[in-house]
Amino acid sequence: MISELLNFIFPKKCIICGEILNLKKEIAICESCDKEKLVEKIDNVNRCKICSRMISFNSKICKDCLSNDFSFDKNFSLFKYNETMKNIISRFKFEDNSFIGILLSELMCKEINLNKIFKNRIFDFIIPVPIHWNRERKRGFNQSKILAKKISQKNKIFLETKNFLRVKNTKAQFNLNKIEREENLRGAFCVKKNIFKNKNIILIDDIFTTGSTINNCAKTLKKIGSNYVASITLSITIIDNL
Ligand SMILES: [Zn+2]
Ligand SMILES: [Zn+2]
Repeated sequence: MISELLNFIFPKKCIICGEILNLKKEIAICESCDKEKLVEKIDNVNRCKICSRMISFNSKICKDCLSNDFSFDKNFSLFKYNETMKNIISRFKFEDNSFIGILLSELMCKEINLNKIFKNRIFDFIIPVPIHWNRERKRGFNQSKILAKKISQKNKIFLETKNFLRVKNTKAQFNLNKIEREENLRGAFCVKKNIFKNKNIILIDDIFTTGSTINNCAKTLKKIGSNYVASITLSITIIDNL
């Protein structure tokens, strides 16, 4: 009843075109946008078994993962970072539209369910990749926390936001190359109270670009004894020739 009332006052809208959606509709995209595949899924064929990037040839692991010794055990990325996704994420992060994030998290939940991501392993914690407290205060929210909240609720995995912190206010990464990203992230994350020893952890973030953010989080957690560290990101950039 309350949700019906809320839907009447704040109708659920398509995150791409803004069309008002049917009350019963579970996902946050209208049928015509869905049909046009504006938010492109990454199909399961030829995906790297570690980072989940699409690979063009018949191999299990991409060149990038072969040449990097990543600390995370597995990354699942759900959608391609195409122009539409880029626009949605920037509206979500920089125009104070936290409601877009809630709708995106619904989309993520649907894909997680379809891909049975939590089927083969029991996870102890979901950790949204933290941003520095100063940035969170300025923005008003941490985008990853908004994405992680619903995933935690739906899958009954504890949402942990107090003991894994970003202690360095790092520069924005988009103009940095891989080596600069590594340098930028060195010492960026820390654990307050070690509740992560021997635990299986899922990290949540919005974009997987070079993997350096996820990798640094995983490195920090593995160093203090975490057992298995995987990540789920809303989107992933596409690299040719992998
Ligand atoms: Zn639409
Ligand atoms: Zn890979």
